[in-house]
Amino acid sequence: MAVAERKDALRFLFGKVVDPLGFKFTPDEELADFLLQQEVKLEREHGAPYCPCQGRSGARDEDMRIVCPCIPFHRAHFDKMRRCWCGLFVHKDVTDPDSLPQFPPDEA
Ligand code: SF4
Repeated sequence: MAVAERKDALRFLFGKVVDPLGFKFTPDEELADFLLQQEVKLEREHGAPYCPCQGRSGARDEDMRIVCPCIPFHRAHFDKMRRCWCGLFVHKDVTDPDSLPQFPPDEA
């Protein structure tokens, strides 16, 4: 499958997963496109659309927690920030993602 087609497929699938969790794709279309492109690349190289902004440990159990969309594993933290780490997803009411603060999990 071509990269563009796989990006569209991931966008469709991810949208279905994040919607009931109260999230949507960032309105920053350029960022969304870039991150999806990176995820297609990671999927091709490593077998799953791992998070583009998190390092993999090599331990399967741990790495499964950073397969996109990883919101269910980090829900409390993301709900506090109203975005995920990469910013691919934001809370549904967010219109200005650049205004959202980021902080480490222990401050969530
Ligand atoms: S931080 Fe965002 S982009 Fe990264 S895996 Fe989690 S949901 Fe996906």
